Amino acid sequence: MRIKFLGACRGVTGSKHLLTTAGGTNILIDCGLFQGRRAESRRKNREFSIDPKSIDAVVLGHAHIDHSGNLPNLVRMGYRGTIYATTPTDALCHYMLPDSAYLQEKDAEFINKKNRKRGLPQIEPLYTMSDALDTIRLIKPNSLDRWIRIADDVEIKFVEAGHILGAALTLFRITENGKRIKLAYIVDLGRKNLPLLRDPKQIRNIDYALIESTYGNRLHEPIEEAKKLLEDTINRTYHRGGKIIIPSFAVERTQELLYFIHELQGEGRIPKLPIFIDSPLAVNITEVFTRFVDWFDDETGEIYSRGDDPFGFAQVEYVRSVDRSKELNHLNVPAVIISASGMAEAGRILHHLVNNIENSRNTIMIVGFMAQNTLGRRLADGWEEVSILGDKYKVKADVVVSHAFSAHADKNELLEYANNLGKVKKLFIVHGEENQALEFALAVKDLKNIKEVYVPNEEDETVLD
Ligand SMILES: [Zn+2]
Ligand SMILES: [Zn+2]
Repeated sequence: MRIKFLGACRGVTGSKHLLTTAGGTNILIDCGLFQGRRAESRRKNREFSIDPKSIDAVVLGHAHIDHSGNLPNLVRMGYRGTIYATTPTDALCHYMLPDSAYLQEKDAEFINKKNRKRGLPQIEPLYTMSDALDTIRLIKPNSLDRWIRIADDVEIKFVEAGHILGAALTLFRITENGKRIKLAYIVDLGRKNLPLLRDPKQIRNIDYALIESTYGNRLHEPIEEAKKLLEDTINRTYHRGGKIIIPSFAVERTQELLYFIHELQGEGRIPKLPIFIDSPLAVNITEVFTRFVDWFDDETGEIYSRGDDPFGFAQVEYVRSVDRSKELNHLNVPAVIISASGMAEAGRILHHLVNNIENSRNTIMIVGFMAQNTLGRRLADGWEEVSILGDKYKVKADVVVSHAFSAHADKNELLEYANNLGKVKKLFIVHGEENQALEFALAVKDLKNIKEVYVPNEEDETVLD
């Protein structure tokens, strides 16, 4: 059999890999959106180097857009097979893919407006709402820890990734000339002790694996530091009379922040200031979370069994309407505003940044991974002036950056996981910027159980036997 690396090679976003068995079965693993500069993104997301109609099945690890967000384009171009995912991933995609389609349509509108003025031709959105809805219909929900036959010669098993709700690592069992080859897809790998989530499950006894390397050469502070930093940031800003603006992913990070704030307020460590979740997507996603309490860890289960709700306590207001969102611009009391998009590339967060970035009483808190060339990355990198919605703004607000919230394993956690895999013939390092992937590969070379390590380039193809 062969594997062809189609995305997230020496880069983080746009995960996409094609497995082709000796029997000719084509399995696509993830079909994520590449996120970066506009023109490059449009080109990379539009083109598939394989014919979507030739794919027999798609396996989706989790709902994050950099793993799921190009599925509607695959369907638009003719894919009609099944998309295998876990039950919560299916539920999350019901909101995330239409939201992504909406952003694609808006993006095309924006470009077309400019093109019209310049007499340039009109463009089509990457995909539309109806493509997203067609995609959702193809997703087949599954539970964890059982083998699922997806083709005559391929079975898969989803196991806990500990990354976001419903995220799974995937085991592939391929039958070839009477022998079985086992491949593990360890992307994205979460961390132990994250709030809400169960710990990642250790995979063992495989022949080959693909592993992520987002933080392949970095170490995180322990997750407890995230809670402490949130406490300090909220208190400091509160005493200045300012607001805390947090660009946050609608999935997991928003709910994690609520979980910590709920605890901190319960423990009397921060004042009971108002908390606004200003993102219609985050509101919908939080509703999905409350439907899957049995996928959470025991501690969260206990909170619910006490009749408590970490997402629905008294100070939290979920903002759906645009009018209410605009009212927040005139809010004159300290508050926490959590808004999307997570990398501050689009959505309501842009208006909150415009309104608050030039006031030194306020704090912008960066709590997620920020891809290169995004506004969030520029803020995290300490730029003194940034461009938002076409205008320039001085960054006078305090900017606080924390990687402690990360839902990705760090270097040591990745190494420990790789070390516990048992004997592996070849480990492929994907889903990490080039320096992170290469440094991680160097560290893996010291592990005795990994025979060979390889950092693929996009379009590389390797035979696995
Ligand atoms: Zn992810
Ligand atoms: Zn990812």
